[in-house]
Amino acid sequence: MSEPTPATAPTATHSMKAPAPAKYDFFGVVQGYLDEAAKLINLPEYIRVILSQPKNEFIVHFPVKMDNGDVRLFKGYRIQHNNVLGPYKGGIRYHQDVSLDDVKALAAMMTWKCALMNLPYGGGKGGVKFDPRSVSRGELQRITRRFFHGLGDNIGPETDIPAPDVGTNGQTMAWAMDTYMNMTGQKGRQAVKGVVTGKPVASGGTIGREKATGQGLVHCITYWANENDFNLEGSTMTVQGFGNVGSHTSVILSKLGVSTIAVGDHSGYLYNPEGFNPHKLQEHVKKTGAIAGYSGGKAISREEFFKIKTDIFAPCALENQIGVDEARSLNCRIVGEGANGPCSPEGEKILLEKGITILPDVLANAGGVTVSYFEWIQNKRSESWSLDEVDERLEKAMRRAWKETTEMARSKKSSLRIAAYAVALHRIAQVYAEREIFP
Ligand code: NAD
Repeated sequence: MSEPTPATAPTATHSMKAPAPAKYDFFGVVQGYLDEAAKLINLPEYIRVILSQPKNEFIVHFPVKMDNGDVRLFKGYRIQHNNVLGPYKGGIRYHQDVSLDDVKALAAMMTWKCALMNLPYGGGKGGVKFDPRSVSRGELQRITRRFFHGLGDNIGPETDIPAPDVGTNGQTMAWAMDTYMNMTGQKGRQAVKGVVTGKPVASGGTIGREKATGQGLVHCITYWANENDFNLEGSTMTVQGFGNVGSHTSVILSKLGVSTIAVGDHSGYLYNPEGFNPHKLQEHVKKTGAIAGYSGGKAISREEFFKIKTDIFAPCALENQIGVDEARSLNCRIVGEGANGPCSPEGEKILLEKGITILPDVLANAGGVTVSYFEWIQNKRSESWSLDEVDERLEKAMRRAWKETTEMARSKKSSLRIAAYAVALHRIAQVYAEREIFP
């Protein structure tokens, strides 16, 4: 039994505590980019103000019966940022650090991404705050079903269309679609397949969606290489995050002769100067959930990872991974942002000063939502496209967005990130100008 605490103790103990580190203001960072791009294109102030906050913010608390009989209460978010171009669209994240502000930032970025890609979608994002690795498959299914039940008809194929993100995948989307179908009347069931995208192909998904984000990033890297006379064949890459985006980027680039020499994830970092076999590593991660235990590389520290000389660095994990220290360490030609928001503004500044090109997230990882759009169309029309058709359409969409972004950057002398925001804002501003404000 513990000793009774003297009345003065709490104050003393409290004062000895180290101050909690300031939380990264991800939403503030994204707002900063919006303000910068708005200034660049003289966006009418009322549109900037509208876009500075999400339209709707849903927070749901829902109970789930765990395998041991305990009932645990979960907190889930769905943020609907803007729908002036079409239904809200964006992923669902399962992670222990999910917070309202982060989901707001990610939802806003989806608005810019969909507008940049000329998709008939607005921006949304959601998440549930828990570690998906710490629960059983049965628990994961019940959490998913209760979350989507909690969201109810605040989502829907013409309203708000979720997709996978960190910690979720095709299986999660199959459960989500099935839950939504079961909340829909018998007659309407088959018409609501498009309530989520990123589904497994047999459950109404599209061929080519799983690799789509990595594929889009590879397109951007290829355009950059062509415009800069850089030979990808024989070049090197390091990748942080070896999940959906990171592993597919590495696999697809390997076919172009790019060797992945270092990888990292939540379990640690590995180095192999001869180059990893990305297929084998991808298989290992699919089986075990992490790169840890893979025999083909030497364990290194996070600090060592960021110092490795490489041609391409692809951050494909989480936001705020490249701060001042990491940016100072990085020794590469380009940073291809597979992840959303991997560079902090301070980190970005250092990278740009060092002459490193950043392929910004809203452009570089837009392949995923673009192929999600293809999936949604196929669901609407009861069609199944071939991989060639999906790939061809994706390449065309990425090429157009690349061209518009690089032209904007050249004409306005801005970074590629602010240029991508500016192209997106142009499109949104035109619609506001035409529709004006209700009533
Ligand atoms: P995922 O869950 O498949 O993979 C996430 C990876 O990040 C894993 O390898 C994980 O181990 C790693 N990771 C997690 N915490 C880490 C840490 N602290 N340090 C290092 N690594 C860590 O998720 P994903 O779908 O590949 O998403 C990765 C990023 O790409 C996210 O920023 C996401 O928003 C973005 N994104 C994903 C898609 C998509 O289609 N899935 C589309 C656009 C953008």
